[in-house]
Amino acid sequence: METEKNLDVLIIGGGPIGIACGLEAKKQGLSYLILEKGPIVNSLFNYPVNMQFFSSSERLEIDEVPFISKEAKPKRNEALEYYRRIVTSNRLRIHLFEKVMDIRRAANGFRVTSDKAAYGADRVVIATGFYDLPNPLGVPGEDLPKVSHYYKDPHFYASQDLAVVGASNSAVDAALECWRKGARVTMVVRGPEIGRRVKYWVRPDILNRIEEGSITAYFNSTVTEIRPDALVIQTPEGAKTLPNDFVLALTGYQPNFEFLEQAGIHLSADGKRLPEYNPETMETNVPGLYLAGVICGGMETHKWFIENSREHAQLIMDHITAGRTAAGA
Ligand SMILES: Cc1cc2nc3c(=O)[nH]c(=O)nc-3n(C[C@H](O)[C@H](O)[C@H](O)COP(=O)(O)OP(=O)(O)OC[C@H]3O[C@@H](n4cnc5c(N)ncnc54)[C@H](O)[C@@H]3O)c2cc1C
Repeated sequence: METEKNLDVLIIGGGPIGIACGLEAKKQGLSYLILEKGPIVNSLFNYPVNMQFFSSSERLEIDEVPFISKEAKPKRNEALEYYRRIVTSNRLRIHLFEKVMDIRRAANGFRVTSDKAAYGADRVVIATGFYDLPNPLGVPGEDLPKVSHYYKDPHFYASQDLAVVGASNSAVDAALECWRKGARVTMVVRGPEIGRRVKYWVRPDILNRIEEGSITAYFNSTVTEIRPDALVIQTPEGAKTLPNDFVLALTGYQPNFEFLEQAGIHLSADGKRLPEYNPETMETNVPGLYLAGVICGGMETHKWFIENSREHAQLIMDHITAGRTAAGA
């Protein structure tokens, strides 16, 4: 089953930051491989079809490869094109639709097992993001087919009673887009208001829609039960039962902590579950094992994004190359 021995570095995750790591490893002459469980930049592929980044395109660039977009802030499709072209034009070594299941220390480095093969590597980078595991509502009916933690296309909800749970960018974008396509939108918000981190050019729009009554919003409210044709919520005025066809539970996501702990990475015990790493090298408490990208934020998923985690690739590969030089490799 072992297919390759002693890669200098194996990179888990083919998102923007995993790709940046592959590009930098190649530039520094390291033998490397990227393993991605889905298509190239799988998380971005699963973003809403009309999503517009809050960053301008130059802030999403990796390795100074120009990102030309129609508007200052690119759309999802433009980002897919950009990162895909970086992979293909640089002939990066990447296996797609191959999921890493296990990372173990081995004699000289690590043994990494995927659902297709096993690899030996001196060092490993985990760049697996946080978009795969939604924060659950934890209420009866959450597993009904009408409930989703991922929003894709507004057309699907036209002329339907749609509940959007959440108050962040994702929830607000979904509520506005679906309302504009004719959905009857109700927002259920745990706190007293729409999130303060909502894009400044979008926030007035949602506030006006709520004020004029186009979109109904229940603040300081939570979902208590989801039924096939209704939604039960707890509001400050008491329990309410609303007619409902679909629920978008856009309550955020979290990294795969089990995967990190299985690899031996320490997580903070303060509820933030911050992984332990050296911010100058991105090396974790496990020597030779590194973190890159948004996974570094633990439960604080708003802390890291492409803009400020692109530099992880250079920090890691510089450290690996320095280590190899010191060892006379
Ligand atoms: C709706 C939304 C809008 C955003 N807008 C912006 C923005 O405007 N600007 C900005 O800078 N950031 C933005 N972000 C944040 C940022 O885009 C992402 O978080 C970005 O995807 C981070 O890149 P990453 O490579 O760290 O993680 P990801 O892109 O999540 O990549 C991780 C990859 O690892 C793969 N993977 C996971 N587990 C395994 C496994 N076991 N084996 C193999 N592969 C695996 C996944 O399939 C995925 O492709 C946004 C995020 C969201 C959700």
